Parts: sequence; C-alpha cells; structure tokens
Amino acid sequence: MKVVVIGAGPAGLMAAGTAKADEILLIDGNEKVGKKLYITGKGRCNVTNDCAPDKLVSNIVGNPKFFISAANAFTPADTVELLNSFNVKTKVERGGRVFPLSDKSSDIISALEKYAVSNGAKILLGNKVKYAEKSGSGFCVYLQDGKRIACDKLIVATGGKSYPATGSTGDGYKIAESFGHNVVTLRPALVPIKLKDDVRSLEGLSLKNVSVTLTDGKKSFSKFGEMLFTSFGVSGPVVLSLSSLINSFDVSRFKLSIDLKPALDSETLDKRIVSDFGQNINRQYKNSLSELLPKSLIPYIIEKSGIPPELKVNSVTRDMRRSLVYLLKSLTFSVDSLMPLETGIVTAGGVDVKQINPKTMESKIVSGLYFAGEVLDVDAFTGGYNIQIALSTGFSAGAHITQ
Ligand SMILES: Cc1cc2nc3c(=O)[nH]c(=O)nc-3n(C[C@H](O)[C@H](O)[C@H](O)COP(=O)(O)OP(=O)(O)OC[C@H]3O[C@@H](n4cnc5c(N)ncnc54)[C@H](O)[C@@H]3O)c2cc1C
Repeated sequence: MKVVVIGAGPAGLMAAGTAKADEILLIDGNEKVGKKLYITGKGRCNVTNDCAPDKLVSNIVGNPKFFISAANAFTPADTVELLNSFNVKTKVERGGRVFPLSDKSSDIISALEKYAVSNGAKILLGNKVKYAEKSGSGFCVYLQDGKRIACDKLIVATGGKSYPATGSTGDGYKIAESFGHNVVTLRPALVPIKLKDDVRSLEGLSLKNVSVTLTDGKKSFSKFGEMLFTSFGVSGPVVLSLSSLINSFDVSRFKLSIDLKPALDSETLDKRIVSDFGQNINRQYKNSLSELLPKSLIPYIIEKSGIPPELKVNSVTRDMRRSLVYLLKSLTFSVDSLMPLETGIVTAGGVDVKQINPKTMESKIVSGLYFAGEVLDVDAFTGGYNIQIALSTGFSAGAHITQ
C-alpha cells in the first residue's frame, strides 16, 4: 500500500510518522520541512500546552466537539513524550505553554522529521501538488513539475491560508472542494484588530493585567491579560484571542473597551485617586496620574477625560473624578475590522468537519482520503493548542492507515 501526504507541517509529519504502509511519500512545496513551525512562538515554538485533553478541548474555538477523539488519541503528554524520545527536552512556561528547552523551534522540526523518516517516509521537497483526483480505488496526485504519482491513500495536511510565504497558501481547500467537500468560509483568527479611532499616539504601549471586552450590544466577550497598541489599533495575547471569538460576526458593530484597573471597583479606584490627589493638592491635573498609569497613556487619558489639564487637583470636582473613574474602567474604542487573513496566526473555517470522521480524519464522502491540521475547520486560542491540533489530527489520520 502507498500513502501520499501533502504538506510537511506538524500535521503531515505526524501522519507520515504514524501511518503503516509499504511506501509513504511526504510532499512539500518548500525546500525544507516545517517552514511555518520555524517561526512559531517567535522562533521558540510553543509546541503544546501542559494540560489534560479536556482542557485542550476547552481551548478550541472552532468545533471543539469534533476534536475530542483526536485530543484523547494523541494528547499533549504524548507530544512531550514523543519529543523526549528524539532527545528534545521541553520546559513549561506561563499558562502551561510548552517550549523546547533549547528555545529553538528547529529542534521540534528535526524531531518530527526524524519521526517521519524513522517510519520509512520519503520526503519530496520543492514540488507543489497542483491537484489530485480519484483513480480506480486510489488516487492520482499531479505535481508542479509535471510528475504524476499514484497512491492508495491520500492525506491532505496543507495548513491554512495565513502567512502564505511559509507555503500555506490554501491549496488544500481547493483539493477538498475538487473531491466534493464543503469548505466553511475562511476567516482570520488570532489576528490584530484595526480601530476606527486614531491611536497612533499610543503605538508601542503594552498594558498588562487589563480586562478587555468586545461587545456589539447583544454579544459580549471579555479576556484578562496583556495587550498592545499598534499604529492602526490593538494586538497582543488578549486581543488575538478575542479576535477569534468575533470573526464570524459583523465586527464593525463591536466596541472594544479596556478596564485599566480590573482589580479595583469604581469606588475603590475613586478613593485611590482622592488619595493620589491628596499627596500634593496644588499639583496640576496633568501631572497627577503618574502613579496610576503608564507615562505614554497619560496625555491620551487627560484629553479624553475632558478635565482641564492645568486645573489644580484640589479644584477637580467629584463629578469630574467620577468621569475619570468611568474612563479608566471603560476606555472605549470602535472596531473597524480584523486585519487580513494573511496576517492571522491561524485560519478559522476550512474543510467542513461534518463530512469528516472525527476518529480517523477520513472523508465521509471519499474513502481513503484524509484531512489533518489547520486545513480542517478547527482552531484554538494561543498557548500551544494549534500545533497540538495539527499533531493530534495528524496522528488520528496516520493511525487509521495500517497494512
Ligand atoms: C507567526 C506564527 C506563530 C505561531 N506560533 C504558534 C505557537 O507558538 N504555537 C502554536 O500552537 N501554534 C502557533 N502557530 C500556528 C501553527 O503554526 C499552525 O497552526 C500549524 O503550523 C498548522 O500545522 P499544519 O501542519 O496544519 O500546517 P502548516 O504548518 O501550515 O504546514 C502545511 C504545509 O503544507 C505545505 N503545502 C501547502 N500546499 C501545498 C501543496 N499544494 N503542495 C505541497 N505542499 C503544500 C506548506 O508548504 C506547508 O509546509 C503560529 C502561526 C504563525 C503564523
């Protein structure tokens, strides 16, 4: 039996390392395997999360139920064990994020490549699959250089459509459609948010321990943690996660509000301001917020609060203070759009999981055809969960292919 795997990212490498067949051919359009993996986790590769399968599933945004079987078949602990077996030690950081001890994503790539090669997989690089079709009981795969490869089983692990320079250009969706599969509308996920407001003066400002809420009046999503202002809007972990929750709605109807002091209720925050003002009652308002806020945010807040900057703090009225407290608890901006698909960390949408067997990743409409990784309509928050999706679904597909 011959198996062809299209795409040598984590999903394809895992499938090629797990399948049992006379011949396994792993094809990638790039000159090396795992090109996207190389840039993950800022070059350190947050390969999985140190958590049980149920927590892994609870961090899946798109189609968590579909993913339950795969998450249990190949767990985050299995990922760590596999890496250890290829002499890659790992460490756990904030939020359970697992990284190679060396901080080098290349170590993860070479372990996965060894896993595939030690299983007898041959790797064909620098040659894109143009299309594939059914041929008798198997398949025929057509390459960019004109070659034609016949196989019995075909695994499509071509990734999503974000960061196309890494080779993930969305070809798998076309292949899926050519076999009659439905592809759920692609949407950017884990992507920065563009604001209608001009926030250029805040560019580069990073806020820690804030609570960010996105609401369109009916639906509301909140996350606590770290965020960042950019020249066009906002980014950072909290914002990226929230983007995945709103990407199927009309985002231009959403307001984004930041609670800059989530640990203090309004009354306590007011008392704190009164106390700060009391330190020097002759100080001007514009010079009175340095204990409370990061330096680069102060001019913005002063302007938005509407309180005259030169006013002495002992002349700031209770109503003025109240509006300042309101602003600090709910600094609000209007959302313009999500940044484009190509700039997302992952692609939401993809091969419709209703047409895929969740235990085996095999197509329910074409027998012998499998899908694994980001090409499927499954995506997760940040924290190592997306690579784990690729590894777990790649494993499920590979494990179903036996002699
Ligand atoms: C900047 C960035 C940082 C990230 N950091 C993390 C992180 O730290 N942790 C985490 O969990 N996730 C992270 N992700 C997400 C993670 O990289 C992906 O979810 C994961 O790589 C998906 O794996 P995959 O195997 O499905 O697809 P990919 O890794 O995209 O691999 C698909 C492969 O298929 C090949 N291919 C595509 N079409 C064809 C074709 N027609 N013929 C031949 N080959 C083809 C491509 O060249 C590519 O090598 C990050 C993503 C980005 C962009």
